[in-house]
Amino acid sequence: MLGIKIKSIQQRILVGFFALVGIGLAILLLNAYVLNSSISAFDAHQSASESVDIVSDLEREIVELNRRILVFRINSASSSSTPITDQLETLSAKIQLLSSASTDAAVTDSKLLNAINASLNGLSDRVVRLDIDRDAMRRSQDTLDKLHRELINLIEDLDGLLEGAPPAISLLISDMTALAHEFQWRQKSYFDTKANNEKLAFLKTLNQLKETFAALSQQISIPNELRTDVQRRLDTLEKAFYKALQADRNFVFLVNIVIAGETAELTALARQILDTSRSMQAEFALQTRERVDTYELIAIFGSLILIILGFVISSRLSRSVIAPLLEITKTFDDISAEKPVSIIPGIDRGDEIGRLARSANVFRHEAEKTKRLLSETEELAAELSAREVELNAAVEAAEAGTKAKSEFLANMSHEIRTPMNGVMGLLTMLADTPLNALQSSYLEKASQSANALLRIINDILDSSKIEAGGIVITNRDFELNELIAEVGEVLEPLANEKGLELLCPAEPIGRLVITGDDLRIRQVLLNLLSNAIKFCKRGSVALDISSETIGENNIRVRFSVSDSGDGIPQHQLDQIFERFMQLDGSSTRRAGGAGLGLAISHQLVALMGGTLEVESTEGVGSTFFFDLRVPLVSATQVSPPANVQQRFYVLTPSKALRLYLNHIFDAWGIALTPITSWEDIEPMLADNQLAATLLLDTKALIDQQFEEGDLERLQASVTCVALHSIADNDFVDSTNTLLTHLVSKPVCQSDLVRVIDLATSAVNDSKTTAGISAQDKPLAELSVLLVEDDAVNRMVAKTLIGKLGARVTVATNGVEALETLRFDEFDVVLMDCMMPEMDGYQATQALRDGHCGELNQSTPVIALTADAMHGAKEACLEAGMNGYTTKPIQINDIVALVLQHTYQDSSAG
Ligand code: ADP
Repeated sequence: MLGIKIKSIQQRILVGFFALVGIGLAILLLNAYVLNSSISAFDAHQSASESVDIVSDLEREIVELNRRILVFRINSASSSSTPITDQLETLSAKIQLLSSASTDAAVTDSKLLNAINASLNGLSDRVVRLDIDRDAMRRSQDTLDKLHRELINLIEDLDGLLEGAPPAISLLISDMTALAHEFQWRQKSYFDTKANNEKLAFLKTLNQLKETFAALSQQISIPNELRTDVQRRLDTLEKAFYKALQADRNFVFLVNIVIAGETAELTALARQILDTSRSMQAEFALQTRERVDTYELIAIFGSLILIILGFVISSRLSRSVIAPLLEITKTFDDISAEKPVSIIPGIDRGDEIGRLARSANVFRHEAEKTKRLLSETEELAAELSAREVELNAAVEAAEAGTKAKSEFLANMSHEIRTPMNGVMGLLTMLADTPLNALQSSYLEKASQSANALLRIINDILDSSKIEAGGIVITNRDFELNELIAEVGEVLEPLANEKGLELLCPAEPIGRLVITGDDLRIRQVLLNLLSNAIKFCKRGSVALDISSETIGENNIRVRFSVSDSGDGIPQHQLDQIFERFMQLDGSSTRRAGGAGLGLAISHQLVALMGGTLEVESTEGVGSTFFFDLRVPLVSATQVSPPANVQQRFYVLTPSKALRLYLNHIFDAWGIALTPITSWEDIEPMLADNQLAATLLLDTKALIDQQFEEGDLERLQASVTCVALHSIADNDFVDSTNTLLTHLVSKPVCQSDLVRVIDLATSAVNDSKTTAGISAQDKPLAELSVLLVEDDAVNRMVAKTLIGKLGARVTVATNGVEALETLRFDEFDVVLMDCMMPEMDGYQATQALRDGHCGELNQSTPVIALTADAMHGAKEACLEAGMNGYTTKPIQINDIVALVLQHTYQDSSAG
């Protein structure tokens, strides 16, 4: 096509489209042109019609003009020319209209119009002459009348003159009178009728009159004057008649010949114009018709051409586009339906169909590939599901294994704890017997080993409990400051032994009551702090507590334990919370432990809703920290000492401790002056009248090698409050010579106030220790039934409880216990759970059910069990027991429980 190679379908469609649009436009333009000329032909025809109407009017008006002229001619004597003039004006206006209309469409011949105009003007001029001629005619007739009357008068004069004359004369005179009257009516008749015979009769009458007068004149003498008068009159009358005749002829000529001729010409011209207009109108009508026909022809042929072209283009497109498209679509369908497709039509084409065909080819290959992959995937899926079954079985087996392992560990630790209980109890008892130095050192090592073993067993038990989901977080209100003080007290000896300053807490926190699981927080803090102490060679270990308020009643407490130890290598920080993870290096190995503590702490913190994290720099130290969001019950500050009129001094080699004390005193608004040696205090005392209190770190005494005498001197001049480690007994004794007011480290704010108040008060009568101050015999006078099957444990427990002042009766199993309870009254029963013959649960149940009567039915029963798994406590309480403690027995726990239940019991009773 036009030598241009059209390659793509898009181009083909575009070419077809533009061809159609082009031809359509051309036809449209042609149509518009023809229509336009048809419209102008039609307009011309229209105006020709209008002109024809005007010309017809014109013709009618000319007829009217003729009529008026005729009327004028008939009544020429009386009528006026005004109607003719009016009609001429109407005609002139019509011609004006015609010439203005004819300028547009040129339907009338301008020459004709000019001619008609000129004719009209000529006619107007003639009409003006009409009145003049008519007046001239009237005037000559009037003259005729006047002459006639004078003639009659003369005849009457003559008659009078000739009175009495012979009858012939009188006859002649009466003939003359008759002729004179005839003459008058003949004249009238002629001017009325214009008949020639009347004219002749008139002239004849005049002649007769002349002849009669002549005869009269011959027969009778008539005075000359009169005769001349009559003759002149007769002559004048004749001339006047001819003049009037001429005037009448002129007028008639004007009316009949000139004006009639003019009107006839006008009529002829009007007819000519009408004919011209009609023929032009017909011509325009023909033109309009022809052009409309052409328009119709173009429209029909144009549409035909468009239809044919459209058909040609669409059939070409269909042949070159739609058919291949259908083929390619079918090919795609076949490929999708996975039917075999050997040849793809149109693959060699250069246009879009070709591209589609090549895509179809790719699609075919991909489909084949997908099919292959699908079958492979199905095989794999089958394999996978088989593996999944195996995996599930393996997971189940693993879970069962883990559960079995946890149960095994729990049972094992239970089994190990029972003899451990015995070993530790026996070691404690052995320590109370007289031993030589070597035996004591062996005993100490045995105790250490036993403690280490017990810790490992506890860790394993905790770990397996967490894994088995056996640990449940139990929240209650507690004083965080007390918990921290207790933790500090427990760990202080350890820190002191390594020469470390333990700051627990590092800054005073006041009295802070929160809701949480105090046991688990204590466990985590103990673990982190004991690790810190374990892996720190010098410097200090601090527990920082900071809190911020969240919402109305909650606070976020951050616990962070930092040490100045060796730190943890960066690459091992990630694994530090994994179980059995221990850093390489001799110190760790030396320090002992199973590598479970941090993993347990991490899990416990997570159970409480926090995350245990660590930051550490090798050679600088480590910080372990976690945040807990807990409800705040109350927060109050600890009040300052009562006697603030004192001056306070502090003597300690520990910078950390000094800072801590400074914080406390700053918060109270009391100055605390540091001194470097006790001697420094003397000059200060001299200057001031106020009493002074010295906070004396016993470490300073060790460093400065104090003697007992020095101490006495010191105490004489100043009130001493000693800050000491309960592990150091060097300067602390029951004798009054040594330090008496003691605050055990780590220093807790409330203890400090209490001891300062005591020391500065007037009553200073007894020695006070702020450490754990239990009564010597807290269980004095209580009768206790101890039910325990293991002989060693029985002996240890009996000895320890007996030492606290209680009367102890023993039973070896539930049956024996019930026998005893039937007859003897007891304040409390300590009941082992797992025993032969009848276990603790059954025995308690029987007691509560009244199998031993009423005697001990409501006596408090406290369970002693090695089973620390979740649910053990509930099982005990369900059986009717009142309290619960785990083995190996902690004598403090037992004392607390016994006192709690016996007190409740007595107060209830
Ligand atoms: P354990 O102390 O019983 O070995 P842990 O889980 O408590 O087990 O600690 C795991 C290891 O992490 C320790 O053996 C020690 O190598 C390292 N570690 C823990 N705390 C510290 C610390 N404060 N400084 C340096 N190393 C630490």
